[in-house]
Amino acid sequence: MLQKTSEHLEDLMVCELAIRRQFEVSALELEDSFVGNSDPLREKEHEVVPGMINKYGNRVLCLLTAECAAYCRFCTRRRLVSDVERGRIDHSHIDEWVRYLSANPQVREVIISGGDPFIVDNDLFGYALDQLSCVPSIKVLRIGTRAPVSSPSLVNCCKLHAIQRVEQPVYVGIHFEHPAEITRATVRCVKDLINAGAILYSQSVFLYGVNDDYQTLYDLFTGLLEIGVRPYYIYRCDPIPGAGHFQADLDKERHIMTELRRNLSGLACPTYVIDAPDGSGKVPVPLEFWQADTTSYTDFEGREHRTE
Ligand code: SF4
Repeated sequence: MLQKTSEHLEDLMVCELAIRRQFEVSALELEDSFVGNSDPLREKEHEVVPGMINKYGNRVLCLLTAECAAYCRFCTRRRLVSDVERGRIDHSHIDEWVRYLSANPQVREVIISGGDPFIVDNDLFGYALDQLSCVPSIKVLRIGTRAPVSSPSLVNCCKLHAIQRVEQPVYVGIHFEHPAEITRATVRCVKDLINAGAILYSQSVFLYGVNDDYQTLYDLFTGLLEIGVRPYYIYRCDPIPGAGHFQADLDKERHIMTELRRNLSGLACPTYVIDAPDGSGKVPVPLEFWQADTTSYTDFEGREHRTE
């Protein structure tokens, strides 16, 4: 995955080391390149039609594109992101998604992700939202993106109108890692999404040398709450090849989250989770308020995983 980041990010990278670390190729990637699984969430084996993944029964993930404006070096979908041809979705794929959803009314929630869904052209973006929201059993749409951080101009009027047209609630999950990502352009973009009727939440990943300290995360989560983005999840970094050097110490992460839980407004404090390595759920990590053996945990399907 060697792709150029956006101009907006290039500017941020100049002034902030914590931003640079997320996107610059590092020699450390070669050192840990044999560790982990390139598809840690086992998405490929749950693909029900091209580009659509159903792991949980009542909600599906639609990968609208493999393109992204960010190209984070720790991306969970490194195997796919930037492989633009393999991940290309057109109107006929979306028609196929709609047929699957119509035949499977137990699915009530659609999560549109990628890559970054805001990078596709306005026509495809609008078609996806219009068609998916027309399926009567679909009650909630979600969009996962980093565009407000990586390239705010991608969130343009046409895409905002497409969001506005959807009758169901549209939740937009924005990926943030560091308070320096909350720029003026990002705040404007967040306001535009709110004005279009979207409900905003954030997702973050604990990253060694980027945000694995109390004050950085305190500032990030407080800043997000204050611009109208509810901090939702912070993940332990997935063990994917080439990203092992981003994984911070588990005990340190728990300690930081315990202190944040103690001091942040409840609304500003996200849930700290491990995404189980076989894709069987986001398991909350116990904080230090409880005595807990954190050397292993059990996923949603009862399988045990070691953390060490
Ligand atoms: S923004 Fe998301 S999809 Fe894009 S590279 Fe980063 S983690 Fe991957």
